[in-house]
Formats: sequence, C-alpha cells, structure tokens
Amino acid sequence: MATCFWLRSCGARRLGSTFPGCRLHPRAGGLVPAPGPAPGPAQLRAYAGGLAGLSAALLRTDSFVGGRWLPAAATFPVQDPASGAVLGMVADCGVSEARAAVRAAYEAFCSWREVSAKERSSLLRKWYNLMIQNKDDLARIITAESGKPLKEAHGEILYSAFFLEWFSEEARRVYGDIIYTPAKDKRALVLKQPVGVAAVITPWNFPSAMITRKVGAALAAGCTVVVKPAEDTPFSALALAELASQAGIPPGVYNVIPCSRKNAKEVGEAICTDPLVSKISFTGSTTTGKILLHHAANSVKRVSMELGGLAPFIVFDSANVDQAVAGALASKFRNTGQTCVCSNRFLVQRGIHDAFVKAFAEAMKKNLHVGNGFEEGTTQGPLINEKAVEKVEKQVNDAVSKGATIVTGGKRHHLGKNFFEPTLLSNVTQDMLCTHEETFGPLAPVIKFDTEEEAIAIANATDVGLAGYFYSQDPAQIWRVAEQLEVGMVGVNEGLISSVECPFGGVKQSGLGREGSKYGIDEYLELKYVCYGGL
Ligand code: NAP
Repeated sequence: MATCFWLRSCGARRLGSTFPGCRLHPRAGGLVPAPGPAPGPAQLRAYAGGLAGLSAALLRTDSFVGGRWLPAAATFPVQDPASGAVLGMVADCGVSEARAAVRAAYEAFCSWREVSAKERSSLLRKWYNLMIQNKDDLARIITAESGKPLKEAHGEILYSAFFLEWFSEEARRVYGDIIYTPAKDKRALVLKQPVGVAAVITPWNFPSAMITRKVGAALAAGCTVVVKPAEDTPFSALALAELASQAGIPPGVYNVIPCSRKNAKEVGEAICTDPLVSKISFTGSTTTGKILLHHAANSVKRVSMELGGLAPFIVFDSANVDQAVAGALASKFRNTGQTCVCSNRFLVQRGIHDAFVKAFAEAMKKNLHVGNGFEEGTTQGPLINEKAVEKVEKQVNDAVSKGATIVTGGKRHHLGKNFFEPTLLSNVTQDMLCTHEETFGPLAPVIKFDTEEEAIAIANATDVGLAGYFYSQDPAQIWRVAEQLEVGMVGVNEGLISSVECPFGGVKQSGLGREGSKYGIDEYLELKYVCYGGL
C-alpha cells in the first residue's frame, strides 16, 4: 500500500493551489471541502447542442478532479454512432491533467482510507440511490453515445448501479484473521488494508457498468480512483461524477479525466506509471492490456485485467434446440455483438446441426430489428464506428472466400455507415478469420463437429478464455465439458451469465483477477501480517 509520505516527496503540496476549493482534512469523519468557494459544478462548456432529451444536468463536458469541474486546453467531439451527429465537445485531458488527478486522488486517499467502512458504505448507497433516481436520463446518455438500444441501456444502468449497491454492502464485510503460531508468546494477525490510488481505464461498450464494477469495489475497500473513460463514451463517466458529487463522495475520491484517442497512450502511461498510483484496473482489448502490464511491471503495481474473449457456444446433439437458439440470440447479439462475453464461434454437433441452423436463422429474422437505439423495437443498434463495421465485413468476406455459406445477412445495412446486418454463416472452418479473431459485431459463424473431444479441442484452441457456453441435456457430459473448457465463466444451457453477485473474469490472455462478487473487493486490498509478540 502506498503511504502518504509519497505526497511530500512528489510535490503534491502544490495541490492547494491547483484545487483551491478542496483542501482536505484527514480525519476519521471523512473529507471536508475547505471554506471558500464551493466546489460546485461549472457551467457546461462548449456543448454543441446534442440530442434533444438528454439531461443537461448530467451531461457534463469538463474533467472532474478533486471535486471540481475543470476544463482542459483542448476539447474533442463525441459522436452519436447512429447518425454521426456531434453530441458535445469534451475536455481533452493530457499528461498534466492526468498527474493533477493522481495527486488529488492520492491526497483524498490519505483521508478516505480512514473513513469508517460504515460511512463508505452509506456514501456508496447514496450514489446507488441517485443512479436509480436518474436511471432514465443515464440510460439515454448511454444510447446517445454508444448507440446501444435504449432497453439494453436501461439494463446496463441497473447492472451498473447494482455494483454500487453490492459493494456498499461488501464494504462492511472486510475481515482479517488471527493465526496461532507454534510460539506461545506470539500471535499473528492478518489485516486487510486498501491498496491506494487505482488508475481505472475502461472501454466504450459498457460506458457505465465497467466503471462501477471497478470503482464500487475500490471505494468500498478505501481506495480512491482516477478514471480514464473511452474516447467514444465519456459522458456516462462524467454523469457518474455528477451523481457522486451529489451523493457526498468526498472530493478527490472519484476523478474522471476524459481524453481523445490521440492522447490515450500518454495519459494512460502517465496514470499507470505514476508512483502515487498503486493499482491498475483495466477493461479493454488484450493488446492494450499488454501495454498496461508493461507499465505495471516497471513500477510493480497491482493489476486487474478484464480483456478480450473468443467465446465458444457449443450445441451438443442432446440439446433442446429452442433453448439453444434463445441462448444463442442472447449471447451473440446483445449490444449488437459488442460485448466481451458475446459468443464468437458456434460449434454444433452433426446430428442437431441442420435443425439448429434453420431455427437460429428464423429466430434472427423474427427477433432482431436493426435501427436507431432510441427507436421503439430496435434490438440491434449501430456498431461503435466504421472501423468496427469494416472488421465484421472483412471477416464475412474472408469466410465466404474460403467456402462459408451466408444463411442470412452478410452485408452492411442500408441505415448508415455504422450499421451491419445480423449475419449467420454455416460451413465455417477453423482456417477462417472469424474463428480466431474476436469479431465484436453481429456475426454468428457455425462450425460442424462430430465428437465431444473434437468440440473441446476446437473451443480451447485459442490463447484467450473469457466465457464459454454449451447446451446439453446429458448430466455427465455437462460436468465433463464445464470442467474442461478453458475459460473463466461457463454458461450451461444459459446464454446470459453476468451478475453482480458472481465472479467475472477470464483465464489465459483474457485477463487477471475477478470483478464483482465477494471476490471483487480483494483486488483493492492488501494483506498485512502483524506478528504480535511479548505475550
Ligand atoms: P481498447 O482499444 O483496449 O480500449 C479500452 C480503453 O483503453 C479505452 O479507454 C482506450 O482509450 C484505452 N486505451 C487504448 N489504448 C491505450 C493505451 N495505449 N494506453 C492507455 N489506454 C489506452 O478496447 P476497446 O476496443 O475500446 O474495447 C473492446 C475490447 O474490450 C474488446 O476486446 C472486449 O473484449 C474488451 N472488453 C472486455 C471486457 C471484460 O470484462 N473482459 C469487458 C468489455 C470489453 P480510447 O477509447 O481513447 O482509445
């Protein structure tokens, strides 16, 4: 765990002049803003109008550091992926803003870690309550900036808020141990203490939940955070800051530094290598995760990595076809295929293959409706940007050129440059790109197999392992396959597996550590052994 001594050696005494309204008083009762101008929210800056119906109160455009809304020297545009319209111009933070945010988080940590678990719990609960009160506005922000259908955005807000609720409860359940050693005059104690400041870097596909899953656990443990959201979706992170402030989360405990993709590398490096930061928590691609692991290695920081997947979805001959199709739809097409646990490869046993493919194609045509996420009935919004569409298109073309058959879909959608048709391919083989590269789009490729051993071998023939799904009615097979799949999470006859109560995370290059559940808070706690002698 970092100590407050670092502050002195790193010149953080200058904080007072950087954030005049948030001199912090380390004491058990928490952090108090210094007398003087209230650290209230600044006016919206350079907001370019955006979509009607978004809450102006929650649509913040400045960074949030030390409890204050601060502009940056430059701004970057955030676009609605459905229409390309600019929703707003957001503060484009650089290295100096990143360092200031770390200092603010560190100074706040010196007090926040002393705040009682009960009080931290109560503040997280207030934050949760405010999310629920504002859930409709928060959902609309998600749909505007990510394109996600509004119904799914509502689902994400609840999922996101539940992490704050869950960790408000877990905050009060951090226990230590007493160990009896062979020495009669000694007792050994094990204390759990907060790690320190956490650098939190998150992706665009769950703009709210990927933040609270980390931040809920961090704050419950007594850590403070600096959040760098994705360029495409900073508004959700900033709306959370507004509500954190309203909830009374002390200044400096939750900081947000949005930045453009152009600045992401250097801002990421600044927060991940700063000696005041003790922990890096990242959700995103395996490629970026490896860069951040290098940063962590150089300064030996704790890490949590939630990275990419290539989920297999196996349908065995004994499966119930209707159940398997429902699970396939849910696991493949949520967020238009843009979730890390989306099925990427469908492996279907020869005896059930034709029936499954036929029923899956019919269900896709009946249930999947491409459109603007705000429109009633839309289940498939746009992809996040045109690059994502190009990736799906490339995988489809590659598969077809190698012998795959398009059962349905297969091309860009007429609604606009970021839309792609929900696509089902059969006759897929393992030499095709879509079977070994994460798609992150609405493409379901089906590979036919003969034996259980063959399915397991194909499923495990990858260097990532996040989620895996299979459908079978054979109890012995269910045990065998669940144990043999090289993944962190398994859905047996179930396509939706995420829940705040359950541990989320992967094996192999899908990551390190677990989020959510009773295990998630451990990622932000250090064990300290105290040998108590002279008894
Ligand atoms: P990404 O490119 O790795 O971006 C994720 C975050 O990292 C964004 O905030 C991004 O900023 C930032 N970033 C990019 N390069 C960076 C660098 N050099 N240093 C510091 N930060 C950097 O991933 P993505 O394409 O946005 O998200 C999709 C990926 O996330 C998929 O692979 C998916 O499987 C994975 N994911 C995993 C989970 C999980 O729980 N395992 C959950 C959701 C998503 P910019 O936005 O500015 O580029």
